[in-house]
Amino acid sequence: MKIGAPKEILPGEARVAMTPASAGMLQKLGYQCVIEAGAGLASGFTDAAYAEAGVEVVADAEALWAAAEIVAKVRPPTEEEAARLREGQLLISFFYPASNEALMETARAQGASVIAMDMVPRISRAQKMDALSSMANIAGYRAVIEAGNEFGRFFTGQVTAAGKVPPAKVLVVGAGVAGLAAIGTSTSLGAITYAFDVRPEVAEQIESMGAEFVFLEFEESELPDGSATGGYAPPSSPEFQAKQLEKFREIAPDMDIVITTALIPNRPAPVLWTKDMVEAMKPGSVIVDLAAERGGNCELTVKDEKVVTDNGVTILGYTDLNSRMATQSSTLYATNIRHMMTDLTPEKDGTVVHNMEDDVIRGATIVHAGEITYPPPPPKVA
Ligand code: NAD
Repeated sequence: MKIGAPKEILPGEARVAMTPASAGMLQKLGYQCVIEAGAGLASGFTDAAYAEAGVEVVADAEALWAAAEIVAKVRPPTEEEAARLREGQLLISFFYPASNEALMETARAQGASVIAMDMVPRISRAQKMDALSSMANIAGYRAVIEAGNEFGRFFTGQVTAAGKVPPAKVLVVGAGVAGLAAIGTSTSLGAITYAFDVRPEVAEQIESMGAEFVFLEFEESELPDGSATGGYAPPSSPEFQAKQLEKFREIAPDMDIVITTALIPNRPAPVLWTKDMVEAMKPGSVIVDLAAERGGNCELTVKDEKVVTDNGVTILGYTDLNSRMATQSSTLYATNIRHMMTDLTPEKDGTVVHNMEDDVIRGATIVHAGEITYPPPPPKVA
């Protein structure tokens, strides 16, 4: 069978779902690989590099979708792309089915199958296919780099002949995958790093990375319980939220950089860094809001924009952090896809076996053989 990757068409999207290296691995699974001309350029992969890796380069999207029985993409398909799907074809892509019902219906009506990379169950066995994590890890790292680019000082404290420099103080709000990557980057650059999460169980991870957990004074029984939400944060109670904001208000004037990553599944991002906290920060401070796509954790964030407030605080609401590191992002994403293909190809014979009895494949499949199969049943293993 042929697997192909088209050029992403969303403006500003620089990633590609197949690299020359991943194509080499896919060929070992028995597949022929095809790529749309220019699809890898923004990620630093030339058509010549693909051709050298044995990939067929076709002229345009039409030729790619016609040639490939399996299409690998990064962004959810546009309506135009979904309309290209045909009977028996398999699409593997980020899809966000809860907010893309019409697209799912188009894929079903065309008789195609869809595996949503954002629906891969977050269980140990599936970590190698967990594209949400691989992308969040890069975004967390890049958030610190973007902050450093705007910040007019060193992260680490220094004593130099030209004067003494205090270390920067960085607060990371939300210690999921992106937050932990931001904490690791910040401490490795030498900043004094603080972190907060509603899940108290992450305190140990935060401290093991050299950061300080910001504790709220609360009874254990009053803390949010994540066990019913598969490790994700449940919405906080109004009392908890009030305590959290009170703490943030107290430390805001002392923070040089704030990186917010707090998300709650299927809800808008919680507003945790309010206008008055921004106003209390020192001129030259920087906020990077990784939740900008879902409304933002900071009240003053503007999606995809850099805002400089009257008191000189820079707020970055960029949602393209992965495209700002396109080579790295494409390499990891293409590897996630390649691992998914390995599980779909038990005989390594270039033929997909879409085994709906497999927890991981079943969990990620949202359309199968003319049927919408989203939402999936809960996974049987942890
Ligand atoms: P996410 O992107 O959904 O959320 C980011 C973080 O924001 C979470 O840590 C959450 O607790 C935090 N948050 C929510 N509301 C907050 C608030 N009001 N204040 C402060 N922080 C708040 O999370 P994610 O990075 O995708 O990961 C979340 C969970 O999934 C974790 O339990 C993680 O261990 C788990 N996970 C498991 C696997 C695996 O087993 N394969 C892989 C990745 C993640």
